Amino acid sequence: MLGDIHSSGQAAHWFVWGRILFYAVHVFGLACLSFIVAKRLIPLLRGERDLRSNQPLTRVAKILKFWLGQWKHPRYATAGTIHIFIFAGFLVLAIRTFSVLILGLSENFAVPGLSGSWAHLYDIATDYAATIVFLCMVVAAVRRLVFKPERYAQPSKYGIGRTADAIFLLGLIAVMMLADSFFAGAHASIRAQQGFEVEPLATLSLAWAFQNTLHSTTLPTLLGLRLGSCLFHEATFYFLMCYRPFGIQFHVITSIFNVYFSRLERGTLKPVRWGVSDERLDQVKSFGVKKFEDFTWKHMLDFYSCADCGRCTDNCPANAVGRPLSPRFITIKARDYSYEHYPVFGRSNGSEPLIGTIYSEDEIWSCTTCGACEEECPLLVEYIDKIVDLRRGMIEEGNVPQCLQKPLKALESRGNPYGKMDKKRADWTKAKEFQQTCNVKTLNGSNGADTLYFVDSITSYDDRMQSIGRSTAKILDRIGEKFGILGAAEKDSGHEVRRFGEETLFMALRDHNTEAIEASGAKRIVTNDPHALNALKHDYQDLPPVEHISQVVSREVKSGKIKFQEVENQANVYTYHDPCYLGRHNQVYDDPRDVLDAIPGLKRVEMSRSRDRSFCCGGGGLMLFYEPKEDQRMGVLRVKMAAEAGANVIVTACPFCMVNIEDAIKVAGLEGKMSAVDLAELVDKHMEPKTSAALQEEAK
Ligand code: SF4
Ligand code: SF4
Repeated sequence: MLGDIHSSGQAAHWFVWGRILFYAVHVFGLACLSFIVAKRLIPLLRGERDLRSNQPLTRVAKILKFWLGQWKHPRYATAGTIHIFIFAGFLVLAIRTFSVLILGLSENFAVPGLSGSWAHLYDIATDYAATIVFLCMVVAAVRRLVFKPERYAQPSKYGIGRTADAIFLLGLIAVMMLADSFFAGAHASIRAQQGFEVEPLATLSLAWAFQNTLHSTTLPTLLGLRLGSCLFHEATFYFLMCYRPFGIQFHVITSIFNVYFSRLERGTLKPVRWGVSDERLDQVKSFGVKKFEDFTWKHMLDFYSCADCGRCTDNCPANAVGRPLSPRFITIKARDYSYEHYPVFGRSNGSEPLIGTIYSEDEIWSCTTCGACEEECPLLVEYIDKIVDLRRGMIEEGNVPQCLQKPLKALESRGNPYGKMDKKRADWTKAKEFQQTCNVKTLNGSNGADTLYFVDSITSYDDRMQSIGRSTAKILDRIGEKFGILGAAEKDSGHEVRRFGEETLFMALRDHNTEAIEASGAKRIVTNDPHALNALKHDYQDLPPVEHISQVVSREVKSGKIKFQEVENQANVYTYHDPCYLGRHNQVYDDPRDVLDAIPGLKRVEMSRSRDRSFCCGGGGLMLFYEPKEDQRMGVLRVKMAAEAGANVIVTACPFCMVNIEDAIKVAGLEGKMSAVDLAELVDKHMEPKTSAALQEEAK
C-alpha cells in the first residue's frame, strides 16, 4: 500500500519528505528500541547461570501451545477471550506492520504468498483485526476502570497502582488501530478517486467507516492524510515498543523467550548452582539468593515477562488466608528493583540484600510450594525455585524461624522432625490386630521382596497417620505384592527440608536413603505420601521406579485384583481433595477418582477448586511446624469448599493433608458433620477379602 505513495506523481512533495520521514521514524525507532532492550539485558548478563537450552523441540512445542495457542488464557473466561482476540489481531497485523516497514526500504516488496485474491482476503482480515483489537482495548479499559476486577487491585503496601499505566498502554494501542484503519480507508478513497478498481473494504470495520467518511475529500488532502496516518502509525508503534520495557507490558517482547526457556519438568527444584555438582558445592561461595544478581538470568526474564494479570495471586492459598505473600508482587517488586537499579538512562547500581528491603522473611516463609501460582500463569513465570533460593540464602545466614529450629535439629540428629528414635520407626507395624493379618518385613536385600514401601516420617511416627501406613501395607498384601520396608534404616525423605532451603541437610538424608534403598534390593518403590513420592522421583537420582499407592490401586482395580464391597454408609457424600504434590506436581488426578468411582454406591462430588486448581490444605512437612501470620487456616477454607460442594466426607491421599484437614474440621466447628479419610484407609475398608484360592496359593 505504501508503494503507491512513492509512485504517485500527484504527490511529489509528499514523496520526498514522506520517504525521508519514513526512514527517520524507522531508524530512530529501531535505534531507541535496540538501546533500551540492550540496557534491560544488562542484569541478565550479571545474573547466575541457568541451563535452559536442552530439548529444543519440546521447547518449540511449548511456544506453539502456551504462546501461540494461548493455552492458559481461557482459564479466566472474559479476560482470556479478550486477550486471545488481541493476540490474534496483533499476529494478523504484524504482517502488515512488517510489510509497511519493508515497503519503506523497497517499494516493490510484496509479502510472499500474499498477492491477488489472497492479498484482498488478507486486507479484509487486517481491517477486521484492527477493529476487533480497538474494541478489545475499549472493553479492557472499561473493565479496568468500571468493573475493577479484584485481582488487578494493588494493596497500598505494594506502592502506587498500575491502572494508569495499563490505561495509557490500552489507549496507545487503540490509537494505533485507529491510525491503521484510517490509513486503509484513505488509501481506498485515493484509489477510487484515481479511477482504479478498488476492492471493497471489510464491511462495518473501522477502515470501511473511514473510507465512507472520506469519499468526498479532495485528492491532495487524502494523499496528505494517508501519509500522515502511516507515519503516525509507525511513530506510535515505535513509541509503544520503546515504552513497553519501562512498564508492565514488556511481556509483549519477552514472553516468547520466557515460554521457550521455561522449566520442562514438574516437581523438580533447581540445583543450588547450575553446573556445580554436589561434590563441588563446598566451593560455592554463597548459597541461594541474597541479592538481585543471585537470581538466574531466566528468573530475571520472568520478572520482565509478567503481565501483572494477578492470576497467580488470585490462586495463591497463602494470599487467600491473609499470609503476607502475593506471588504477583514477588515478581513486580523484583522488576521495580531491576528498573531502579539498572536504569535505561544512568549507571547501574545495586547489590543490596533483598530480604529486609524488597522482601520480608515472613513473606518468603509463607509459601507452601503448592504450585498453584505456576499452574495458573499464562506466561509460565516460575515461583517455587525463586522462593526456595531466597530461603537457601536466609538459611545460610542463620535466618531460620524460631519454630523451625527444633524440627530441623531433630532431622539432623535423628532423621525425622519429631526427634523420635530410629528403632521406633517401624513400631506402626507392631499393632496386634494388624500383625495378625499382615506381616511387614524389613528388607535386607535377600528376603525376597521386590517392592519397597517407603513410609516416610509422618506415617511412621504420627499415631493417627500410622493407620494410613497399615492400610497401605494391607493393600499391598491383598494384591499379593512381595514387599517390605526399610524400618530403622529409613530416614525422612528430606522433601520439605529441601524446599525450606536446607540443601546440605537434604543431601545427607538423600544419600543415606539412597544407600539403604540400594541395599534393600528393591526393584520398585511404593509410597502413600506424595511428598516422599516427589522427593524420590525428582530430588533423588537413579532409584527404581516410584509410584503412589493410588496409582497401584487404580491399576489393580482395572485388572480385577481388587474388588470392592458396597460403600459402608450410602448417605455419605464424598469429595476428593487433590494433594498438591500428587496432583499439580505429579499429574496424578484420575487414579484416585477412578478408585473412588469403583466403590459401589459411593456418591462423589467435585469441589469448585479441584484437580490442577486444587487449594492447598496448608502444606506438609516442616510447614506443619511453621506458625505463620494469617487470618485463617488454609485447611478451614478447604473444608468450607467441601461443605459448599455438598460433601460430608473429604477423601485425600496424603498424610499431611489429613493432619491439616482433620484439624480444620475441628476449627471450623464441623465435627460430627464432616470427616476426613485417606484413600488407602477407604480402600482397605471396602476391599473384598482374599478368596480361599488366593489364600491357598499363598500357603504353598
Ligand atoms: S507456591 Fe502456592 S503458596 Fe507459594 S506462592 Fe505459589 S500459590 Fe502461593
Ligand atoms: S506472574 Fe503470571 S499469573 Fe502472576 S501476574 Fe504475572 S503474568 Fe499474571
